[in-house]
Formats: sequence, C-alpha cells, structure tokens
Amino acid sequence: MTVYTGGCQCGAIRFRVEGELSHSSICHCRMCQKAFGGYYAPLVSVRGADFEWTRGERKTFRSSNFVDRGFCGDCGTPLTYEAPDGIAIAAGAFDDPALLPPTIQYGIEGKLPFTDKLHELPGTRTEDDVETAPFISEIVSYQHPDHDTTEWPEERK
Ligand SMILES: [Zn+2]
Ligand SMILES: [Zn+2]
Repeated sequence: MTVYTGGCQCGAIRFRVEGELSHSSICHCRMCQKAFGGYYAPLVSVRGADFEWTRGERKTFRSSNFVDRGFCGDCGTPLTYEAPDGIAIAAGAFDDPALLPPTIQYGIEGKLPFTDKLHELPGTRTEDDVETAPFISEIVSYQHPDHDTTEWPEERK
C-alpha cells in the first residue's frame, strides 16, 4: 500500500492517505481560482483510499449548496474540496506533489487566457535574485518540513 502524507504551510494541519491515488486534476473554474488564490486549483481525489487527518482540524467554507472548501485556519493554506461524492486534497499540500501529476483539466470554460503560455515566460532561479534582494541569502523558513514531525512547531532559534 502506498502512503502519502501532507499538510498546510504552518504545520497545524497534517493528513495521511493510504491507497492508490490515480485521480489528479486541475480545475479552472472561477470558484477554484478564488478558493486557491490561483489561476487554477490542483486537486487529488482520495476516493477509495484511506484518508485521515493526523494533526489539527481544518476550517471549512461552504462555497455552494454541495461543496465545502477546507483550509488551515492558522496559515490559510487551501486543503480540500469536499463534495457529496468524495474529498479531493490540494495537490500542492502533499509532501511530494511530484508523485501526483494531473491527468485531466476541469472547468476549461473558466481558463484564464494566458494559462496555456505560462511555461513560455522567462524564468530565474532563486539564487540568481540575491543581488537584487540580499535578504534572500538570510531567509530562515518557518514552513513545516515535507514529512511528518512528532512535535511542531520546533523551537525557534
Ligand atoms: Zn497552517
Ligand atoms: Zn473548480
């Protein structure tokens, strides 16, 4: 059995999924854009797998008569899309999102026109920005690491 773990940025909420996750998608609809603060929402269905919250309790917003959107009340990370036919988890909240590549797009009538060209934009690496933003070299991350922890938060030095 494959085990997947993940959680929010601050680490107050953690989850665990046991089973095969084969339904990974992105949704371009306007509600998903808003709920994720993004151009589209990446979601992985956990239907048919064993899903459990292992730390904390998410908050939810009822975005329609059928759907709840779960998120961390402390840091705001979007976490779920909860419909009558099952729960989907925000793909980027998994500890290793690379394991769950999307295979289908939904709501393409809502697709923002530039979305298909994002990969054509010029890009830079973070370390290349040090000259323009010197604080980058001194950044200390308070983000929860990409694995389960027995205690969190760790003591800050
Ligand atoms: Zn959080
Ligand atoms: Zn949507």
